[in-house]
Amino acid sequence: MSKVYSSIANKKPEDIISRKEFDVILESNHLLIERLVNEETVIPDFDSFQSTIERIYHEVRMDQRGNVADYIPQLAKVAPDQCGVSICTIDGQVAHFGDWQEPFSVQSASKPLNYCLAVEENGIDHVHSHVGHEPSGRSFNEISLNHDGLPHNPLINSGAIMTCSLIKSKESTAERFEHILKTWKEACHSKTISFNNSIYLSEVETADRNYALAYFMRENNAFPERTNLKKTLELYFQCCSIEATTADLATLAATFANGGVCPFSGKTVFKSSTIRNCLSLMNTCGMYDHSGEFSFKVGIPAKSGVSGVVFGVIPNTMGICVWAPRINKQGNSLKALEFYNKLSEVFTFHNYDSLVLEETGKTNPRVNNDYSRIHKAQELCIAAAYGDMPRIKSMVAKGTGLNDSDYDGRTPLHLAVCEKRKEAIAYLLKHGADPNLEDRWRKTAFDEAVALNDNDILTLLGAASKVPIEKTRKPLMPDV
Ligand code: GLU
Repeated sequence: MSKVYSSIANKKPEDIISRKEFDVILESNHLLIERLVNEETVIPDFDSFQSTIERIYHEVRMDQRGNVADYIPQLAKVAPDQCGVSICTIDGQVAHFGDWQEPFSVQSASKPLNYCLAVEENGIDHVHSHVGHEPSGRSFNEISLNHDGLPHNPLINSGAIMTCSLIKSKESTAERFEHILKTWKEACHSKTISFNNSIYLSEVETADRNYALAYFMRENNAFPERTNLKKTLELYFQCCSIEATTADLATLAATFANGGVCPFSGKTVFKSSTIRNCLSLMNTCGMYDHSGEFSFKVGIPAKSGVSGVVFGVIPNTMGICVWAPRINKQGNSLKALEFYNKLSEVFTFHNYDSLVLEETGKTNPRVNNDYSRIHKAQELCIAAAYGDMPRIKSMVAKGTGLNDSDYDGRTPLHLAVCEKRKEAIAYLLKHGADPNLEDRWRKTAFDEAVALNDNDILTLLGAASKVPIEKTRKPLMPDV
């Protein structure tokens, strides 16, 4: 739901909305409404999903550990116990909790967007001739460069100062900042993203470390020729001083999750290849010197900032933003870390959950609806026919129905049997594939096995058929 829709959504069903209200809703939510009508949203049971998010929010919001960042004086003034959470799916369904309307300075959460801008303007090779791809394993502002004398990656201070030097470098600082802010507004689908001048001035006054990093990089010839250090640093501080809410950053994250296309406007803000590259870096370098552990435990690309923000991206599904100013010594919000840990314990969002689905007992909220089900079923049938185990496991983890069939009523198990894919047969049966479903020619996977007369396959299917299951003829097409 966009903001406009959510303000009207509290009406009871019997309230009749005016034509004007309907037009307003339609105008800013046409993509979502189309998907809702076609039952194609990525989280079909959004109500129960948001209840779980709300429960996790309540579990973490009272955490008193950590302190607000104080090395930038203006940040030290922020009320420490605020906590906001927003989620935004790639369909534009949103949910918000706590202090989600409170603006905060984005700090290092500005770094992924600047990287994307630098890549789109200069090309990936040029950007990475000035900045590496590796996690540094050091604190975010430590004075160290990699073996080539370049900043380790674009998501720590030195690397982010470098990417700033690559954004519209020939234009005035005003033009450059306007270009960046305009992109923020597009990616967040928000007209209200702003700039906090006090934070900016405070950053400038306490910028010794960032100046030291910049001079160290210049000494190592890391910058492009004719880089103006002062202007580059000013632009970097301005980007850190952009102000947004968790709602804005969850939308930014959803734009990333959607391959660079804003879920509300449908506008392509970044190319999908740019997003893929950025997410790879967020996955390995986005959480300062906690990136390895975050990737290990939570397993989603994310970026944190010392203001206490962490935005996370679940590709093809949703963006999430948690903001709570108490941070630990690595610079990460403790409430946010706890939130993502709990999220990953409940849902199959970790990058590699598809490999361990049966062991985790986690919930997959991305179960498919009827219309897209037939496409997924066909895809799973092909994977089964080829015995493509990683693909099969990943599709099962994403909730693809094992007993859904293609147009001819052929299930993945029919195909796996015909092609004698024994590992796939065993896996499908173990996860609930029914060997007694008939295709349009009234043949079951079991019939196919009998015709093949392969003992191993007959044994596998015979064991699964012990409990007689009434033969059901599946509808070939969903009712539309
Ligand atoms: N403006 C901060 C700095 O440069 C950003 C740090 C951060 O959020 O990691 O020190």
